[in-house]
Amino acid sequence: MKNVTKILKNAIIVTMDEDFNIYTPGAIAVENDTIKAVGMEDDILAAYQSEEVLDCGGNIVMPGLINAHTHVPMTLLRGLADDLRLDVWLLGYMMPVEREYVTPEFVQLGTKLACAEMIRGGVTCFADMYYFEDDVAEAAAQAGMRAVCGESILKFPTPDAQSYEESLEYTRNFIERWKDHPLIVPAVAPHAPYTCTEDILQKATDLAVEYDVPLHIHLAETQSEVENSRNEHGMPVIPYVKKLKLFDAKVIAAHCVHVDPGEIRTLKSMNAGIAHNPSSNLKLASGIAPIKHMLEVGAKVGIGTDGTASNNDLDMFEEIRLTTFLAKGTSGDPTALPARQTLSMATRMGAQAIHIDHLTGSLEVGKRADLIQISLSPIHNSPAFRHHPDAVYSQVVYAAKATDVSDVMINGKWVMRDHQLTTLDEDQLTLQAQEYAQKIDAFLRKRESSVLSKLIAIGGAMQEESFEVQLKVKLTDPAEMIHRIKESGLDIIRKRHYREYDTYFFFADAEQGRLRYREDHFISERNEITNVRSRLTLIGLKQDRQAQDKVMLSRSRYLAPATQSLRFYKEYFNPTISQEINKDRKRFLVNFKDTEFFINVDIFMEPDLGSFLEIKSRTWSRKDAERKSNLALELLVYLGIDEIDPIASDYIEYLKKLEY
Ligand SMILES: [Zn+2]
Repeated sequence: MKNVTKILKNAIIVTMDEDFNIYTPGAIAVENDTIKAVGMEDDILAAYQSEEVLDCGGNIVMPGLINAHTHVPMTLLRGLADDLRLDVWLLGYMMPVEREYVTPEFVQLGTKLACAEMIRGGVTCFADMYYFEDDVAEAAAQAGMRAVCGESILKFPTPDAQSYEESLEYTRNFIERWKDHPLIVPAVAPHAPYTCTEDILQKATDLAVEYDVPLHIHLAETQSEVENSRNEHGMPVIPYVKKLKLFDAKVIAAHCVHVDPGEIRTLKSMNAGIAHNPSSNLKLASGIAPIKHMLEVGAKVGIGTDGTASNNDLDMFEEIRLTTFLAKGTSGDPTALPARQTLSMATRMGAQAIHIDHLTGSLEVGKRADLIQISLSPIHNSPAFRHHPDAVYSQVVYAAKATDVSDVMINGKWVMRDHQLTTLDEDQLTLQAQEYAQKIDAFLRKRESSVLSKLIAIGGAMQEESFEVQLKVKLTDPAEMIHRIKESGLDIIRKRHYREYDTYFFFADAEQGRLRYREDHFISERNEITNVRSRLTLIGLKQDRQAQDKVMLSRSRYLAPATQSLRFYKEYFNPTISQEINKDRKRFLVNFKDTEFFINVDIFMEPDLGSFLEIKSRTWSRKDAERKSNLALELLVYLGIDEIDPIASDYIEYLKKLEY
């Protein structure tokens, strides 16, 4: 008889090994952190003895579940902003709040909260991607959980780094510190191809290869990501990263929703693991990954919950069930993804997908003792059929719930015994989480109350206290006016032709000002679009009017390059009314009496307001404005217009309403 640390007996041992062995009644012998023996109870008890023998009462003992893709500290952001599109959700809410609140303490607390939830739900291992990953690793190790911890690298500043060089340096130190830890596998996590540069992707790959650690990345999550990749790189996402030699590393590819059969073959042949996140993909309406096809070609597919801000829980039982139901439902084939195969994705194959199957994922001699007990006593688990060996998989996948998990062992240590967590204080964690929620609530309330602070939150807004003298006159014959400008003898410094697509956002509180999204399409002599520029301008409300309303002084308060789509800004700013104005503009920069003026000849396309002549000049002081107002009127006379009657023109009133 050999002595071992622990023996679990009287269990249905579901090994999830390659042959899908099940032992009933089975037993398992654990020596320190390692599985020493697994088999029929009689055989195990004849060979091993222990001071700690647990009678499992006929319940299921199986490998702990593997959450193949998540962002654990985001538990603290659970429910913060939902029912939004991915870009609005990420750029409008998650990232601004993260910039403000994500600190080592935040990350430690969020990780512990996640660990408590995951242990309760039978998860023994997770693959993470976040900031301050050193603290994720620290908290996970304290909670006694196994984790592949990937430090995020992005092309813009993150909560833990001002630049990607800093992130790479952080990651190197992080790997050095954790590479020999019994529970933690450090990893490199370039966030996604669209949030990284080629240089970042290549350097991240080099680092992962140098230390032989996994590389965790989001790939082909949405259709628009793939379209953008085609436009920017001339190819979809998978060939693009293949070209950059990303697959030289042990890749954990999260999502892969929009991949074609060729790309799936690439993922398989390059030995990349795929993390399928059905809840997140459904909630964000990203699509449904072609899992059935991936499995058919032999790709390694694990299942993940993704972060709790896009799920909103870490319940792997739910993900497992969704995985099989979606595969059946989308293929019209109820035999697709049987329970056994799906459970393997959350255990042995999941471990393969995150490149740690030598450690965990199945109950096999030599692997670490990461296991869970599932109670069969709750009513929804009865009765139990055993005529077919696969019935037990059906029971786990189609009926059992996360709350049925009664005991969890990781690396040979109990982290939950009889529904009681042994490493974490849930009451304490809940209280601390609520304190954070209150702070973030206050921050968002304040931010949401002002268009300006919302504009600043998404970055890049520049204050511009420039004033402008503006004069507008209705034209009946724009072509004739252009001819007149050219022939007038004016000193024309530059001329340009473009189409201006403006959308004005109006808000219920008029004091907020108006936000204008402007897209300029520059037109060449040959009538081709040569360039497109997009800008956002928050226009202040209070304006001065001069020269009996003939010359107006306007002020643009904040300017920001518009890097997102109009749709994004509409959803993010949520204006009460939005109004479009599209016009064809011929612009002349002229020198009139030693003063530069823009003369615009605008033909309105939408709405049909006719044509206008506009004279504009930048100004910085009231005195200068007065001088330029008078000059603008003179310039008008010079161009042969001496009668200005703006009051009579409905069109001008309409424009004033929009622009002032
Ligand atoms: Zn993710």
